[in-house]
Amino acid sequence: MSTFLDDIKETKRQLDKVSPSFCLAKWLQVTIHLHSGYTHSCHHPIMHKIPLDELKDNPSALHNTPLKKEQRKMMLEGKRPPECGYCWNIEDLPGKNISDRMVKSNDYWAKEYMSQVANAPWDANIQPTYVEVSFSKICNFKCCYCSPNFSSSWVSEMLQHGEFPTRSRHHSIITEDELEVLKHKDNNPYIEAFWRWWPTLYPSLKVFRVTGGEPLLSKDTFKVIDEIAAHPTPNPDMELAINSNFGIPTKLVEKLCKGVSPLLKEKKIKNFRLYISLDTWGAQAEYIRSGLDLELFQTNLKTVMKLLPEADITFMCTYNALGVVKFKQFLAQLAKWKKKQNILIDISYLRHPEFMSIKVLPKEFGRYIEESLAFMEENNFTDYEINKLKRVLEYFNSETGYNQKMFRADFVKYFTEIDRRRKVDFLKTFPELKKEFLQWKADLEVQETTA
Ligand code: SF4
Ligand code: SF4
Repeated sequence: MSTFLDDIKETKRQLDKVSPSFCLAKWLQVTIHLHSGYTHSCHHPIMHKIPLDELKDNPSALHNTPLKKEQRKMMLEGKRPPECGYCWNIEDLPGKNISDRMVKSNDYWAKEYMSQVANAPWDANIQPTYVEVSFSKICNFKCCYCSPNFSSSWVSEMLQHGEFPTRSRHHSIITEDELEVLKHKDNNPYIEAFWRWWPTLYPSLKVFRVTGGEPLLSKDTFKVIDEIAAHPTPNPDMELAINSNFGIPTKLVEKLCKGVSPLLKEKKIKNFRLYISLDTWGAQAEYIRSGLDLELFQTNLKTVMKLLPEADITFMCTYNALGVVKFKQFLAQLAKWKKKQNILIDISYLRHPEFMSIKVLPKEFGRYIEESLAFMEENNFTDYEINKLKRVLEYFNSETGYNQKMFRADFVKYFTEIDRRRKVDFLKTFPELKKEFLQWKADLEVQETTA
């Protein structure tokens, strides 16, 4: 029986036959932020604007933008689109590293379309098989690495307190493009184009995923469930997936289970996957994901386990500098839950804002990552899960030209301001980082007095 690693090797061989920078995710996987009119393929590159004029006649232009077609052309010619640096960083590390280009292209929603995609003209309009959409950015959380682009709570806080005194502009208040879309609040042209596209898109989908904001606070999420339930010819090959921060009232989780359960029983979908975001454990997790209440989170998880035991659950972890210390505790919790339901953890290292990257930490913190890896290996986590954390460790140990001096200064400025705005206490919550924080603060004061 071939293993995950054998499959990846074979997929890489097939990709290389087309070109060394070919990646099926650029054609077949898309995230569309309908609330703001932005898209990216896959979710790693930064988003770009969807030109409104093309949508009138071709709603698939929500995915097939001129910019994306240019990136596809580069890939077919063996050139590396700079926007895919997430993968090139991994592939350029010493050793044979597995990048998301290989993992995603190996996935069932991609692999079987390899020759179809490779043989299509570079500027063809491609019907994606993995579609993720965000209908709204209504969100009750203000995760420290998120921004006003994705969370309405972040917008409110920025309007109240203004910009952060950091060099990074990651948290800047909404862009002019977005203000333009907000003018059409009740008649969003991107959402309107999406529902026009849906009848031709739905039959060929392998995965349809709703992201946010917080999707369970958006009426369109429940409209998707209703549309599938009422469809005369449902697509039983499609995975329905919904992201959630799981900090929403339990009655919404019950409503979700009540909607999805008949879709599974009547085989109107292949499976249901719930993506739940959590980065670490305890007060440190609650500090990172502001709005998170771990007690409510666990109540909501128990509710799903009781009402929808057939659901697959993936914990999405954005591995960042504040999550490293308690990560093993989080894994221990996960190991218990894994015994009750089909649960996976998917770990990606955080890149933005750069001052929250694990690269900001001193090398000694690598031992926490190593201990977490050992725990995963001893507790039957899958190859897929373990490889994701191995990649994090490789990234942590690699030389990438990260400007530690600048980002440590931003780190101090940012969390000092977060403490003030949110009435929280960084040093009390992260005693393991106290020495570093105070040192970086002293360094910053020296920089400011000599500037
Ligand atoms: S090369 Fe990597 S970053 Fe680019 S689309 Fe593929 S998986 Fe995403
Ligand atoms: S839950 Fe998601 S959308 Fe909301 S603040 Fe956190 S990362 Fe952003």
